[in-house]
Amino acid sequence: MKRYALVTGASRGLGRAIAIQLASQGFPVIINYQSRTDAAQAVADQIIGTGGEAELLQFDVSDPEAIETAIGNWENNHPDDYVDVLVNNAGIRQDALMIFMQNEQWHKVLDVTLNGFFYLTRRLLKNMMTRRHGRIINMTSLSGIKGLPGQVNYSAAKAAVIGATKALAQEVAPRRVTVNAIAPGFIETDMTSELPVNDLKKMVPAGRFGKPEEVASLVGFIASDNSSYITGEVISINGGLYT
Ligand code: NAP
Repeated sequence: MKRYALVTGASRGLGRAIAIQLASQGFPVIINYQSRTDAAQAVADQIIGTGGEAELLQFDVSDPEAIETAIGNWENNHPDDYVDVLVNNAGIRQDALMIFMQNEQWHKVLDVTLNGFFYLTRRLLKNMMTRRHGRIINMTSLSGIKGLPGQVNYSAAKAAVIGATKALAQEVAPRRVTVNAIAPGFIETDMTSELPVNDLKKMVPAGRFGKPEEVASLVGFIASDNSSYITGEVISINGGLYT
């Protein structure tokens, strides 16, 4: 029996760094992504090239039928294994001031972040509870704690995941499954590449954006057995931007 880690949105950015970190801790890693197969394959190649185990699993986290098909196939191919660590990392932003925000922008961001969390976590939870061990790690954001103007959709989605994290943590703690949220500030990825970095980093007490590897090492700790008494927490990682 192997205990896998599944990282959603692992073809780029934070998810990529998290997949590499978890593989370095000995987890066989499932790399989920939406459309960029080449980038996802490059992450797998890097992990395999350094002696780790990785495989790709494409699906859209906001599509429950696609999840059922992908996870069902994976389980058929891995009858003795289970997903012990789930990192709900896939996310998008579609910023607009609320007065200009379109229904589509509202629904799309909630579909990927909030509904994606719900569909995939529900699908994988039963096996964690049966095996009496699991880690669910939800990538939220400073935006979901403080709220950021121009991100009413994104702030709402991330705040909702924080509420869900706290509720689910209490449901599953007796089965030794922990549920925590990580709330990054500004991290250097594609998602932040078009922001006015020089202006924004002046607001950060640490004077810089964070690196994906810094978030990944926090996720690595939460995924490990050393974190077994931490659950229902929201852990900020933001260079002192907001505490
Ligand atoms: P990113 O560089 O834009 O990468 C996004 C990843 O999510 C890609 O792997 C993408 O896959 C995948 N993805 C997008 N929609 C998906 C869907 N419907 N189903 C499956 N995968 C999907 O983003 P990032 O900066 O690494 O952000 C990762 C997470 O951290 C997000 O939840 C984000 O909200 C959160 N976060 C980021 C920051 C930051 O400063 N960067 C701060 C706070 C929170 P493809 O490559 O196939 O498109």
